[in-house]
Amino acid sequence: VFIAFEGGDGAGKSTQVAAVQRLLQAAGRTVLRTREPGGTPVGEKLRALVLEHGHGSIDARTEALIFAASRAAHVDQVIRPALERGEIVLCDRYMDSSIAYQGAGRGLGLEAVRDLNLWATGLLRPDVTVLLDVEPGLGRERRLAGDAGEDRLESESDAFHARIRSAFRELAAADPEHYLVLDAGGGREELTAAIMDRIAELLP
Ligand code: C5P
Repeated sequence: VFIAFEGGDGAGKSTQVAAVQRLLQAAGRTVLRTREPGGTPVGEKLRALVLEHGHGSIDARTEALIFAASRAAHVDQVIRPALERGEIVLCDRYMDSSIAYQGAGRGLGLEAVRDLNLWATGLLRPDVTVLLDVEPGLGRERRLAGDAGEDRLESESDAFHARIRSAFRELAAADPEHYLVLDAGGGREELTAAIMDRIAELLP
């Protein structure tokens, strides 16, 4: 079972992924929690490339291709093998982040970036994508208050974050069966419970 967690910066994805992982493991499930580039050697180098050159100093197409290449390695070396072993895979950001950030945020177009990523992943799509829908103002507050790591690329404007948000929502609205959309402003434990309920439906 493959679950992706998506949402804008400050949505609380990492907190929810960690909480869900703990509960599933406590229930005796084998869980692989991952995030791109997932520790693959090629992916790590590609990530370093983007960070080294900074958001915006690399042109949008190059950035989209680097993220897609990193994702291809992650799927091939980490995600597919875990799914084949029958594990539950929890992935903090997946192709919707590229569609939103590079497609909408950087203006490459949602369809072009989606097609690139469907190819890069060999059409591997999550069973469910949990979208933590965060209003840009709240996201900004949380980023400023929180423990943003040095790899956060968050010098973008509110308009950029608003484009990201509407792209995520558009993706979810177009395929409601494969999305769980939650208000990221809700209580942490209520959010975890809602995610667990949805995952429970998918488990044997
Ligand atoms: O929230 P997380 O630590 O995963 O954030 C990583 C950063 O990488 C995000 O702030 C986002 O700006 C950026 N990103 C991106 N395009 C992607 C994935 C992440 O620009 N496809």
